[in-house]
Amino acid sequence: MKDKIPMAIKILLVEFSATEIQQLLEKVGCQVIAKAATSDAALAFVRELVPDLAIIDIRLQGPVDGIEIAARMRASSQLPIIFISNTADKQTMARALLTAPSAYLIEPVESRQLYAAILLALYQYKFEEKTRKSKERYELIITATNDGVWDWDLKTDVIYFSPRWKSMLGYREDEIGTSPTEWFKRIHPDDEKQLRAELNSHINGISPRLEREYRMMNADGKIVWMLIRGLVVCDGQGVACRIAGSQSEITTRKMAEERLAYDALHDPLTDLPNRVLFMDRLSFRIEHTKRHPNEFFAVLFLDLDRFKVVNDSLGHSAGDQLLITTALRIQQCLRPEDTVSRLSGDEFAILLNEVHDISDAVRVAERIRARLVTTTLLGSIERSPTASIGIALYHNNYEKPDEILRDADLAMYRAKTLGRNRYQVFDSSMFAGAVALLQMEGELKRAVARKEWQVLYQPIVSIESNEIIGVEALLRWQHPQRGTVFPLEFISVAEDTGYIIPIGEYVLRTACMQAKAWRDAGQPHLWVAVNISARQFQHENLVGMVAKILDETGLKSDGLRLEVTESVAMQNLDYSALVLRELDQLGVCTSLDDFGTGYSSLGYLKRFPLKVLKIDQSFIQDIQVNKNSEAITRAVIAMARSLNLEVVAEGVEQVEQLEFLRSLGCAYVQGFFISHPLSELELSDVFEKQARKR
Ligand code: C2E
Ligand code: MG
Ligand code: MG
Repeated sequence: MKDKIPMAIKILLVEFSATEIQQLLEKVGCQVIAKAATSDAALAFVRELVPDLAIIDIRLQGPVDGIEIAARMRASSQLPIIFISNTADKQTMARALLTAPSAYLIEPVESRQLYAAILLALYQYKFEEKTRKSKERYELIITATNDGVWDWDLKTDVIYFSPRWKSMLGYREDEIGTSPTEWFKRIHPDDEKQLRAELNSHINGISPRLEREYRMMNADGKIVWMLIRGLVVCDGQGVACRIAGSQSEITTRKMAEERLAYDALHDPLTDLPNRVLFMDRLSFRIEHTKRHPNEFFAVLFLDLDRFKVVNDSLGHSAGDQLLITTALRIQQCLRPEDTVSRLSGDEFAILLNEVHDISDAVRVAERIRARLVTTTLLGSIERSPTASIGIALYHNNYEKPDEILRDADLAMYRAKTLGRNRYQVFDSSMFAGAVALLQMEGELKRAVARKEWQVLYQPIVSIESNEIIGVEALLRWQHPQRGTVFPLEFISVAEDTGYIIPIGEYVLRTACMQAKAWRDAGQPHLWVAVNISARQFQHENLVGMVAKILDETGLKSDGLRLEVTESVAMQNLDYSALVLRELDQLGVCTSLDDFGTGYSSLGYLKRFPLKVLKIDQSFIQDIQVNKNSEAITRAVIAMARSLNLEVVAEGVEQVEQLEFLRSLGCAYVQGFFISHPLSELELSDVFEKQARKR
């Protein structure tokens, strides 16, 4: 039948007394599943029978009329409603409209009109249902992604901010309105300009989308990082009318990124800028000074003195503690615009901004030096850390940051050589010195390979008998271009480069061979003294090597003495005592060289199995000039006697010095007055002459 609706539509009738309408409905193929006379019954039917449509009669005007029932139904259901009424007065119509009905039919109603209204109502309902579902789905997605949503109507300048958008900033739904200022006033002032620019660029079609990270202030006044994304919607004329998008909070990610970036540029122990950051600031400063030639600056290079001793003797945590204390103390001596950085280990670099001349930089270096030496507790031990500081003042020959840092480093090195705990200003001769040093390194390598060495022997004689009792082996480098090079010029480089190990072994072997030869040729008690430098002394195999060479050369152990300087022996007392004891067990005795120049503590002398003290030549040469030197010499000799040690006085150049030493009861002397260091042939001659005299 043409008029029939293909499926059985389930209708709920409300408030109908007459039955015509039911007949009408059935005529068009609808099924009346229930009739309700009260609002409670109507609501119950809607819930339980799930009708497709409700048709409500509003002719009857009771205390609860059809419109009221419809209103109550609306509270819990979207069910389509058709009103049938015998009036169309404004007031009734207005009330009815509030319940969002699908149709309002005036009696008399005919079947075709009713049929059309029902179809339309169902169609509309389906359509709305679809929109409602997709809206719900959209809201679900938004909630699930945790993003805030914003939608800006560019024509009315009204923005919709989703509840999540607001709660991300710590606001309740009703605390933020719909004006764009609600957004812009919460943007970090440093980011606002850029964000506005990007918005405009997208709105004007220059950039394809909006995407930016920026900062906002939340309700607590804290800074939060946001990621905003947006797309413009254009009207029919291609003019932007709307821009909408999402916003997510990325503070945690940003913080992690910032932390990573911070860590990459800072020293984890002291929290100071690291080398990378320092070099960056330095190159920035160089560029700045090139543009403002009157604004000088200086670089200080600071290295703690004997840091290794602290680390080795008190442990690494004491070492760390010292570095942290140092970092703090340096900072206390600087202005906020200066930069102090820990370059590595115990090295610090300082960039002093706004320095007028070298005296400004010197003042800061002095201040730091003075601040550092205040005692600090390392573990349970009190220490006064000292440092050596090099200063380089900017001049316009500097192009790169490493150049000025290198010069400050060279000056620091000089400060170390001059005795530590001091500052030194860079001058260009230091650079020449450093270049020469580098060159020497290469040449030493060659010298080791080709054995460009000569060992000389300086006699040590007994004052009483005037006989040579021993000799000191002294190394010379026969340089192919420079001729004879003295040890003071190259031993420290050999130390730093490690070449001292093969060089030292060479000297020891040569000297032992020579001593054995002299012993065999009529000097049966002669011994040779060989100098051992710090690195050799610390080498794990020193004792093994000595034993091996004695064995190879056939020299008895009483034919060899080793000379160790006081400062070397003092570096690590326990270790020194151990090595000296092992040598003693081998039958090799040790002399303490250059005695009086180091950090004498008489206590340790007793702990070491020593045989000889060699009074440093500086005291002997000062004997006539300086009363102190005389007193020191006298005291050393007296002390040595009480400790049962032999004393050798070095550097005796004049008869007066010899006589003075004789008067003090010093037994042995060495020096130019007796003999310069001699070659093996020269000394063999001397021995022969002596033998002939006898
Ligand atoms: P040292 O062990 O104190 O040696 C004594 C130095 O004083 C020698 O200098 C010697 O030539 C010099 N001398 C001796 N008598 C006099 C004097 O009357 N007046 C003056 N002004 N000087 C005198 P040299 O040979 O230049 O050696 C310097 C230092 O180099 C040595 O000091 C020693 O510490 C080190 N050295 C020398 N040979 C070797 C070696 O084979 N190995 C190691 N590791 N160091 C060595
Ligand atoms: Mg010596
Ligand atoms: Mg000496």
